This record gives sequence, structure tokens and C-alpha cells, in this order.
Amino acid sequence: MIKTTGIITELIPYSESSYIAKVITYDKAQISIIAKGWRKKNEPILRFFEYDFCLSEPKEEGLYILKELCVIKDFSSYPNSSTWAAAEAGMELINKIIIPLSEAKDYYTLLREYLGYLQKVSKNGILIFWRMLLRIFKMMGINFDPELCDRCQCLTSPVAMGHNGDLICQNCLQEMFDTHEYRTLSSTAQRVLTLLPQIGNYLETIKLDRAVTEELNNLFLDYYSSHNKQTLKLKSLSVLSQFY
Ligand SMILES: [Zn+2]
Repeated sequence: MIKTTGIITELIPYSESSYIAKVITYDKAQISIIAKGWRKKNEPILRFFEYDFCLSEPKEEGLYILKELCVIKDFSSYPNSSTWAAAEAGMELINKIIIPLSEAKDYYTLLREYLGYLQKVSKNGILIFWRMLLRIFKMMGINFDPELCDRCQCLTSPVAMGHNGDLICQNCLQEMFDTHEYRTLSSTAQRVLTLLPQIGNYLETIKLDRAVTEELNNLFLDYYSSHNKQTLKLKSLSVLSQFY
């Protein structure tokens, strides 16, 4: 018998009476659990809940078998639907990336803190999502410093981004002969990038619209693809953007 702590990220009905739960755990990264007969039990099993799980080792198809569970924390309620969408986006992100077993607890702690933080956020939850993305980049060894010009290495507010995700400052942009590879960042996008590490203090004051939301989503996802050699598509991020 194995004990682990985890948050259910997906719950899929399976046969007449069972579920398959996708779970991010503290010590095993992402695992799948079959909860046999659980749909007919009085005891609920819910997404966005953190549980202590009692499991037996997988026999078939890599599925752990659920024996018992005990609720630790409910991460399923948020002040409004846009914050809830931000929580969904964070869960989907954690589900999509490859988490090394040795770092499972760091990623788990990040998700847990992210969801807990969002439960108190009523405005601009997407800013917290971008901050989480920035933290994940760091954990993955992708060096994304939103306050640094990648060309002259000056601490500044970058004004443009290249095709391969490098950020450059105003001076560097002016010195270049050929700038067609660079897209200029809007002033709001510049401000968000500069403030991102402390963005929690600016949730009420930053004004986002659809264009800036898409600009920043594309910027982060492009940066990820160019440094990770694979694209990252998050359905829930498109849903989240609809709120802006
Ligand atoms: Zn520069």
C-alpha cells in the first residue's frame, strides 16, 4: 500500500461505476488512479480537491488503484468565473509539462500555492497565471528575465521581442539595421513584464484588454516553444482570455 498527497486535475467517468482520476502528487508528479465503484459510493471524489490517497501499485496500464482517500483542502471555489478560469489554466499547464520525479514536490507546492492564492483574487487572475508561468520557466531552466535586455544585458524595460523570444531594449532596437524580426510590445505589455515578479501588488491597477491579453499569451507561449522545442497549447487559456 502506498500513501501520497495530491490534487485531482481531471476526473473521467469510466465504465458504469468507476472513475479515472488524473492527479498531480507531492512525490510522484502526475499519476493516474482508477477509483473502482466510486461513482456508486456516497463518498464523493472531486476535481480541484487535495486528498491524502491510499493506493495500491499499478497492475494494468499504469493505473494506481484507489483504496481510500481523505480530504485535505478544497481548491474548487473562487470569487468569480474569470479567477476560476485562471485556476483551470494553471492546472492544465501543470498537466501538460514533464515534471522530473526529483522535482515533483516543487511543482506540487507551486500549484498548491497558486490555487490558494487565486482563492483570494477577484480581479486579473491571468496576471497570477503569467507569474506562475514565469516561475515554471525558471524551474525548467528556461531563463526568462522580463526585466533584462537580452542583447546588451542591461536591466531595463524591454520594448520588443524577437522571433526566438529574446527581449530587447529601446537603445538596442534603434541600433539595429534590420528590425523586421522584432515585434514591438505595447506599453501595457511592457509594464506587465517589468512588474511580473511582484505582480500581486498591482492586480487592481493594471488594465487589461483582449488585445494585450493575447499579446502576452502569445509572447509567453512563443518563448516557451522556442526554448523547449515543443509547442504548448492550453485550451483553458483561450477560455481565460474570453474574460478580457
Ligand atoms: Zn539593450
